[in-house]
Amino acid sequence: MKRIKLLDYRAIGTDDESDLVFLSLHVEISLRFFSFPSSLLRCRVYHAGTSFKFQLQFLSMASLTGVHIHFPAFISFKPLSPSSQFSPFATPRHTSGIGRIRCSIAEGPPAVSSSSENDSQKSMVDCVIVGAGISGLCIAQALATKHANSNLMVTEARERVGGNITTVERDGYLWEEGPNSFQPSDPMLTMAVDSGLKDELVLGDPNAPRFVLWNSKLRPVPSKPMDLPFFDLMSFPGKLRAGFGAIGLRPPPPGHEESVEEFVRRNLGSEVFERLIEPFCSGVYAGDPSKLSMKAAFGKVWKLEKNGGSIIGGTFKAIQEKSSSPRAPRDPRLPKPKGQTVGSFRRGLAMLPNAISSSLGNKVKLSWRLTTITTLENGGYSLTYETPGGLVSLRSRSVVLTVPSYVASTMLRPLSAVAADALLKLYYPPVAAVTISYPKEAIRKECLIDGELKGFGQLHPRSQGVETLGTIYSSSLFPNRAPPGRVLLLNYIGGATNPGITLKTKSQLVDSVDRDLRKMLINTNAPDPLVLGVRVWPQAIPQFMIGHLDVLDTAQNALSNGGFKGLFLGGNYVSGVALGRCVEGAYDVAEEVTDYLSQCVYR
Ligand SMILES: Cc1cc2nc3c(=O)[nH]c(=O)nc-3n(C[C@H](O)[C@H](O)[C@H](O)COP(=O)(O)OP(=O)(O)OC[C@H]3O[C@@H](n4cnc5c(N)ncnc54)[C@H](O)[C@@H]3O)c2cc1C
Repeated sequence: MKRIKLLDYRAIGTDDESDLVFLSLHVEISLRFFSFPSSLLRCRVYHAGTSFKFQLQFLSMASLTGVHIHFPAFISFKPLSPSSQFSPFATPRHTSGIGRIRCSIAEGPPAVSSSSENDSQKSMVDCVIVGAGISGLCIAQALATKHANSNLMVTEARERVGGNITTVERDGYLWEEGPNSFQPSDPMLTMAVDSGLKDELVLGDPNAPRFVLWNSKLRPVPSKPMDLPFFDLMSFPGKLRAGFGAIGLRPPPPGHEESVEEFVRRNLGSEVFERLIEPFCSGVYAGDPSKLSMKAAFGKVWKLEKNGGSIIGGTFKAIQEKSSSPRAPRDPRLPKPKGQTVGSFRRGLAMLPNAISSSLGNKVKLSWRLTTITTLENGGYSLTYETPGGLVSLRSRSVVLTVPSYVASTMLRPLSAVAADALLKLYYPPVAAVTISYPKEAIRKECLIDGELKGFGQLHPRSQGVETLGTIYSSSLFPNRAPPGRVLLLNYIGGATNPGITLKTKSQLVDSVDRDLRKMLINTNAPDPLVLGVRVWPQAIPQFMIGHLDVLDTAQNALSNGGFKGLFLGGNYVSGVALGRCVEGAYDVAEEVTDYLSQCVYR
């Protein structure tokens, strides 16, 4: 570790993301002297105390100086006078002091070359994964751990890893502004354990209820078959209709690809659709069930009817098949969830991408925006990136694109217009995550269980006169998410049935959510909520609509028929949107990449 002297720095602005700050740095390093009189560096506040630490996420000094600096680097800073206060969030502000940057420095050629250099001097990696969301990082992790291949790079346009995963921690609160939790499936748990996070896992109480708003009342959803006769979300005739349909007394499947709405109304009746599945579609996809494809969006349930003649018939058949085929013993390292629940990590979901990124070290390149992909004469691909230090290119035997489909479409257009056109068809509606807190006393008495707000959260069917799609009881679900006496609520609003949310200001979004909550969960005379975060995702979640699987086939066939071997599509629009599906998809892609590399003739 060598030291770099920080001569001066100046905070000149903050990013949309509340924990990022732009700094202009003036530094001197011991090997050579150079300065950044007005360089714009993006920094994450790493630790606050009497001194401040920032994790630099700027990667391009190598091309400027010929000195290769391995990031992440840390700047620690002590104000010159103990009374001088520095807050990176109070900007613009000029502050001088004694600080230093700690990072490792190596002389010699950088790992990547500028685009002006001769191609032959560049080293070829086995795989470049574009996008450091959960999909991209898990593909890299699976290649490194399961397939012992670390000759890879992960490149990411943003200055942070995680993609949609956005954990924020401030003032005693810890909250999520993207996904809030995952299903603790075995692949997901394997990924967590392989990333060193076994002891950081937190699982929700499987007995905690989930609620649906119906006729102005929050009603619990049955969590086990024993609850079915007693829950009051559905009428007795509605339950009978569902039961008969589930055993096969219902109209046969039509000859076309069914929407979720058609499939559920036909198989289980209108009450199951309107009171359970429609709100559930909002919860998973923020989607419109009349447009989502049952086969693409909920393929496992769709297959039950196809394989067993009815939902119950298919369930029995699946159980029989599972018990008759020998199963590999379960990995003994994996924790066993006690029932149907959801999981996260002690310090939020971001722990997983951060842990994978740290173990990959300088194989992860941040602030690298892919601009073009071209094929190389003897096989493989050249990728060109815009980076803070200028254009950089990489050569790779294989490439996995885990960027959203509309980004992949732009990248692929020069290679295959058919693939590009297909990928452009997928729709990502906007969703806003509104995180607010109330004092505990603000919760209505009838919503408390043993004096506490208990449960996973609540979903709101579109027919019930509220705009908010659903509310997660974040402070009840996982420990240490809010200070004592406070309740932390994460609300999602928008989606395929309400794309107009993008026209609202952040305070209008908070007003809409607060107004909705006062109709069923919060006392009407409660004080205004403390607003922690309002994040609008303009293109949030890919919709698996009717025709989705055909669109994917068209894009993938166009690439393989066009001879683009070793170019793979990954990410949530391929694997499925839930985090667990992204992880399962990542293991599959890593397998495909490994198979491909083993056949590479030009290796
Ligand atoms: C508001 C919201 C709530 C959700 N809630 C849940 C939930 O509770 N549970 C659950 O299981 N799932 C949830 N999901 C879904 C889940 O979060 C996503 O499906 C998953 O995170 C997608 O991961 P990904 O890696 O496939 O894509 P992304 O996270 O989108 O990652 C793609 C990455 O590619 C990068 N990129 C883009 N362009 C370029 C370029 N040109 N060059 C380099 N990199 C580029 C992006 O910056 C990004 O980091 C939610 C999603 C949203 C938006």
